[in-house]
Amino acid sequence: MANRTEISELGEFGLIDRLTKDLKPANASTRYGVGDDCAVLDYQDREVLVTTDMLMEGVHFDLTYVPMKHLGYKSAMVNISDIYAMNGTPRQMTVSIALSKRFSVEDIEQLYEGILLACRQNGVDLVGGDTTSSLTGLAISITCIGEAEKGKAVYRNGAGQNDLICVSGNLGAAYMGLQLLEREKAVFNSTRHDDGEPFAPDFSGREYLLERQLKPEARGDIIRQLREAGIQPTSMMDISDGLSSELMHLCRQSHTGCSVYQERIPIDYQTAVMAEEFNMDVYTCALNGGEDYELLFTVPLTDHDKVIQLKDVKLIGHMTRPELGCHLVTRSGQEVELKAQGWTSNL
Ligand code: ADP
Ligand code: MG
Repeated sequence: MANRTEISELGEFGLIDRLTKDLKPANASTRYGVGDDCAVLDYQDREVLVTTDMLMEGVHFDLTYVPMKHLGYKSAMVNISDIYAMNGTPRQMTVSIALSKRFSVEDIEQLYEGILLACRQNGVDLVGGDTTSSLTGLAISITCIGEAEKGKAVYRNGAGQNDLICVSGNLGAAYMGLQLLEREKAVFNSTRHDDGEPFAPDFSGREYLLERQLKPEARGDIIRQLREAGIQPTSMMDISDGLSSELMHLCRQSHTGCSVYQERIPIDYQTAVMAEEFNMDVYTCALNGGEDYELLFTVPLTDHDKVIQLKDVKLIGHMTRPELGCHLVTRSGQEVELKAQGWTSNL
């Protein structure tokens, strides 16, 4: 059994000290971090981007298969991804947590290890937060702050008719990773565990899918490539709810329609194999899966030659006149209307 320190042994202030003791700011815009009533930031003449997300145990994450460190990493990463999705650079983060007695100091340290790893990898300073108690599960609220050069932030509403539609990485892998975890959890729950044998789920050869679900990466590398290539996207967002639903957001806000080509949708080999094993249509997974955290963006037709040079970016279609609607052109040339089957509230 690993060490277990009760949070009550340290108290709220002791816990905060423990979590934030070695923080050294990496950004000039971080004037003052943890330790006062507010953090102080100095952005001079830059535009400031702010994004926040709240995650509830049992609704947004399941601790039976998500380790605390991964949870921290992913919670931070999804906020960082939102800053990149505006063509911004992430700089600071605040983390607020509500904890029940079930959690030990060591559990929360693990959570922060993940958060701080994601921060370090993206040059983000942890500058504050709040710590409070919860009667039930764990709640995490993260705010990320970033910057964009004046006039360079990219919105969802800027796409023009005929613009090219691009996507980074590949789609559907995170969703297949989730299916895999859910399957193993069901196996675990339906077998007896009184033989003293540790539960050993079979994930061999599926590591990539698990990683896409448990340890997603925000695509700062794509933002840097776009900058180096001198490409200013006309619209952009990150894919958290599935390509189909995100495309419809871009089209609705930009007053366009779109055509995307099924054969151009990037899918990893493991995603395809797993979908077959689960008897699912791999394109349905790629279009509606969610949690990929890839970037979806549009560029003017005149950037065609530049955009096809980008690493790990695929051109999947183009914007059209709004009255044409949103379509998927299948391999056989059929036009199917896109439907959003993204996240819906289960309240
Ligand atoms: P206040 O009474 O102003 O809310 P707190 O005692 O909650 O102050 O916090 C003291 C300092 O510790 C503040 O700088 C706050 O931002 C920081 N802090 C509190 N909780 C966390 C946390 N979970 N993670 C990071 N920083 C935190
Ligand atoms: Mg407080």
